[in-house]
Amino acid sequence: MSHPVQAPALHALGSAEILSVWERGTRASRTRRALLLLAAGQPDTDIDALARLPIGERDRRLLLLRRLTFGDRMSSVAECPACAERLEFMLNVSELLVPPPASERLAFRQDGWSLSLRPPDTLDLLSIECLSDIGRAVRALVARCVTEVARDEGEATVEALPEALIEHLSELLDAYDPQADVRLSLSCPACDHTWSARFDIADTLWREVASEARRVAWDVHLLATAYGWTEAEIFNLSATRRALYIQMVTG
Ligand SMILES: [Zn+2]
Repeated sequence: MSHPVQAPALHALGSAEILSVWERGTRASRTRRALLLLAAGQPDTDIDALARLPIGERDRRLLLLRRLTFGDRMSSVAECPACAERLEFMLNVSELLVPPPASERLAFRQDGWSLSLRPPDTLDLLSIECLSDIGRAVRALVARCVTEVARDEGEATVEALPEALIEHLSELLDAYDPQADVRLSLSCPACDHTWSARFDIADTLWREVASEARRVAWDVHLLATAYGWTEAEIFNLSATRRALYIQMVTG
């Protein structure tokens, strides 16, 4: 199944980029890690511009980056919420890609309020990271994303928005671009329970990059010890040639 998703100028992550992005992101938050991964895949684009991409577009690009770096096929795991059985299954990146939304803004009218919103981006998510109270975080996020507010009667400010409307706006923002909230329909082979699990490409790609970084570091350790080569010299070898020397070193 293929979707008409335009690929932006993304570069597959090589050994040097993988080790470098892992080093920079290892103590960072999940949101910042996602941004660092995307910046590693788009080194020619200003990181501030990447931080202003809607989360759906960020995740669309992270999926494409995953496909470029590790291929279309990926393995995933989930735990059955009913019986705790561990499920292992295969996914294709191309099946998770959806086309971008048709409009860049959301317009909305309810209970005498008229609002325009833009979808949240990385800067918005970073700004609410320090808020532990979910209600406050949602309100702060909605406040940042509302671009126009008008009201038939009374005070027309984001602060005056009733709680029910805030909840509704938060749901609208979630539904705006399905790429920002990818769901998998899973069923448990042990107990037949079926459920919808969220698939987070940022977390998935980070785990894969972290695991690849350890493998790359191990290769460097083995070859540097055996031949006295520098890290840069080892990264300049083709994957085939590096694998050949690793084979010789490990016998
Ligand atoms: Zn189960």
